[in-house]
Amino acid sequence: MPCYGRRSNFMKHIILLVLLAFGSGNMTAQYATAPRFSVLALYSTRVEGAHVQFAEDAINYFKALTVGDGFYFDATDDFSLLNDETLKNYDLIMMLNDQPRNEQQRAAFERYMENGGGWMGFHVAAYNDRHTNWPWFLAFLGGGVFYCNSWPAIPAKLTVDKAHPVTKGLPASFIAPENEWYQWQPSPREHRDIEVLVSLSADNYPLGLKDIIPGGDTPVVWTNKKYRMVYLNMGHGQREFLDATQNYLVLNAFRWVLSIDKKGDPFR
Ligand code: ZN
Repeated sequence: MPCYGRRSNFMKHIILLVLLAFGSGNMTAQYATAPRFSVLALYSTRVEGAHVQFAEDAINYFKALTVGDGFYFDATDDFSLLNDETLKNYDLIMMLNDQPRNEQQRAAFERYMENGGGWMGFHVAAYNDRHTNWPWFLAFLGGGVFYCNSWPAIPAKLTVDKAHPVTKGLPASFIAPENEWYQWQPSPREHRDIEVLVSLSADNYPLGLKDIIPGGDTPVVWTNKKYRMVYLNMGHGQREFLDATQNYLVLNAFRWVLSIDKKGDPFR
């Protein structure tokens, strides 16, 4: 069957060529078909002025990072986009200065997170008190209710609590830019699912000029091990993105939340 044999070899050749073409096509595609992931940032304009300023700066900061179409960054003040249909398009949801107030939006966000969604929350986005009435979110954040704050916004010495991808490369302690620092009770550190990554150094106490944090345990950056999330207490005013060390921390957190996506690490 020489003819069959030749055809077989010919077919093998064609298949090899096709495989090579597809193979190289895929390799090219890895470079060409960016963006690699999509981010939706939610913010409110009807909140304290310094929190709106932070949201504007954060949007500018992250938008600038999309240079070269590395990723999509959408920002909106429309919290009704917290619905299943919209959320399925995003790998990471940011809450820059607010949280959903409406039951449907809250439920959609819970489903998104329970199914492996990613979240980064800043500053007042985690604020809660007896009026918040969202037990799921309180547990998600580690059970800490807002207790007290420093005022006005001032720099503070932060200490890195543990080795983690979010704190990788950071100094053991550094001075963070002006922020309104929050303390929570009970401390999220006491929650078994919470891993505290960065805290206020005891060297700061009493911290504040008008409103004072007198002492105690004040986690600043943490993750809940049950979710793909990081909370950062930074988020007040116009100096939050002027410090390279803090930017490095924010970027580490951003990359880490995306990198542990069960759909795969977009940076590999
Ligand atoms: Zn604030």
